[in-house]
Amino acid sequence: MATRIDGKALAAKVKAQVAEAAKGLSRQPGLAVILVGNDPASRVYVNGKERDCAECGFQSFEHALPEETAQAELLALIEELNQDPRVDGILCQLPLPSHLDEDAVLNAIARDKDVDCFHPYNVGRLAAGDPVFLPCTPAGVMEMLREYGISVRGKRCAVLGRSNIVGKPMAMLLLQQDGTVTVCHSKTPDLAAITREADILVSAVGRVSLITADMVKEGAVVIDVAMNRNGEGKLCGDVDYAGVEPKASYITPVPGGVGPMTRAMLMRNILTAARHHQAEN
Ligand code: NAP
Repeated sequence: MATRIDGKALAAKVKAQVAEAAKGLSRQPGLAVILVGNDPASRVYVNGKERDCAECGFQSFEHALPEETAQAELLALIEELNQDPRVDGILCQLPLPSHLDEDAVLNAIARDKDVDCFHPYNVGRLAAGDPVFLPCTPAGVMEMLREYGISVRGKRCAVLGRSNIVGKPMAMLLLQQDGTVTVCHSKTPDLAAITREADILVSAVGRVSLITADMVKEGAVVIDVAMNRNGEGKLCGDVDYAGVEPKASYITPVPGGVGPMTRAMLMRNILTAARHHQAEN
């Protein structure tokens, strides 16, 4: 029987630590959230982040813009927020409507307010092993491993997915902790041959029941990053939890696993940004 890694409980602990640390600052940290359009899922995410800010004693400034917002308008708002001393972090909720250039928007956010760690400068710092901010989802996974005393050193790690947001930075963080990392993607032949060798398996694909028990090594640590809906509309990950759980040593549930940790790590990044800004003044 695997130990269930409780992301919800750990996220609450991290947020409590962040809230405590924020009390020692001379000014309340602030997050600006930009939401363009009416995507209901994005609205839910934004509401969650604003709740987290309140929990941590941070201010949040919401900028809800209409679907038809022009690129220049959005860039002008970001520039204004870059200059605003009350704002320590800027978050532009993705996906953006298709007429907007996502890369240009993310690149316009000041490096020192890039609490999602999407700016090429911060991605470069991470790749060089000298990060300012850590990308929230992979950082949440690393925090879970640390909390449960799971060492990465010398372990074989398989990361499924190579997105800029999850897969690639996940691989980098595992590598920095001395894991031997294989990154898999949609063109990887015989995925099971790789996953069966993995001591630590991180799946960030977005396909229900992709990982079945026969693909998992006995005693592996199984981290399910994905957030899918199954046939009944219920939230689930990539991993067949019931099948894999008896074989794994540790496993994350969906929901209640990586999702809450991602949000907690965002709060930690805002605290980091606020500390930097207040040290400068
Ligand atoms: P993404 O950009 O769609 O990337 C998915 C990755 O999976 C791609 O690299 C793709 O390969 C790869 N892939 C597709 N089919 C595969 C297969 N059969 N075998 C191996 N790899 C395969 O998605 P993402 O943004 O990284 O997110 C991944 C999942 O994590 C989604 O379910 C998302 O909802 C979830 N997510 C959760 C959190 C959280 O906080 N829990 C945060 C972010 C994302 P190619 O590159 O070749 O296309």
